[in-house]
Amino acid sequence: MKRKPFIAGNWKMHNTIAESTALAAAIAKSKENKNQADILVAPSYTSLASVAQTVKGTKILVAAQDVHFEEKGAFTSAVSPSQIKDAGATHVIIGHSERRSLFGDTDGILNKKLAAAFKHNLVPVFCVGETLAEREAGKTLSVIESQLGNGLAGFTAEQLKTLIIAYEPVWAIGTGKTATPQQAQEVHASIRKYMEKYGKDFAAKIIILYGGSVKTDNADAIMAEPDVDGALVGGQSLVAEQFIRIINFNANK
Ligand code: PEP
Repeated sequence: MKRKPFIAGNWKMHNTIAESTALAAAIAKSKENKNQADILVAPSYTSLASVAQTVKGTKILVAAQDVHFEEKGAFTSAVSPSQIKDAGATHVIIGHSERRSLFGDTDGILNKKLAAAFKHNLVPVFCVGETLAEREAGKTLSVIESQLGNGLAGFTAEQLKTLIIAYEPVWAIGTGKTATPQQAQEVHASIRKYMEKYGKDFAAKIIILYGGSVKTDNADAIMAEPDVDGALVGGQSLVAEQFIRIINFNANK
């Protein structure tokens, strides 16, 4: 099954509005998209509307980095699904490991955030991944299955049809340590197998991204793996030329 490559940039807590729009404009200006990849950028909430405006009319998609599950109310500092949509997001990252480890997003909370995203027709990029201790204890696949099982509990295949999964080993995020292409492939294949519970065709179609120190010099090898459909890029998505090179993975082949 041929799946469309998908390259996403998570800008985390970086960039002013001016810096974000300049970065978005530089990415949008590059018409180079050798692999016909879908391209997504996830700026901070403060830059969401300006970035969405900047890329309007281009093929670049815009995501929020998180969302609250409530519609509105007394939830100081939280941002609702309608608010991120209003700002121009069509996608939302849910369950990034920094949200899980630094902000206490549990599987149960993430399940509610996913429900809120589906309800508002936001495409979720749902992140899963093991810590180094879990990998060394041989628990990688069981941890991922449990994150998927709990996060996706209660949804039908129909509800999940837009879902994108990102496998992000926690030990590889922002550390410069990348999973080997073989390690990524092993987990991606097992995620795809797990998703067969929603149907073989569903599993064959679902987009699974790898994230964790994806760089210009390792993107080609990671993207060559059969079950790796794209990348969620942190650090190197903040530099337009690097991100564009990653979008154009295998550019020299
Ligand atoms: C991320 O933010 O999801 C990420 C993978 O970061 P980095 O590419 O910097 O490791």
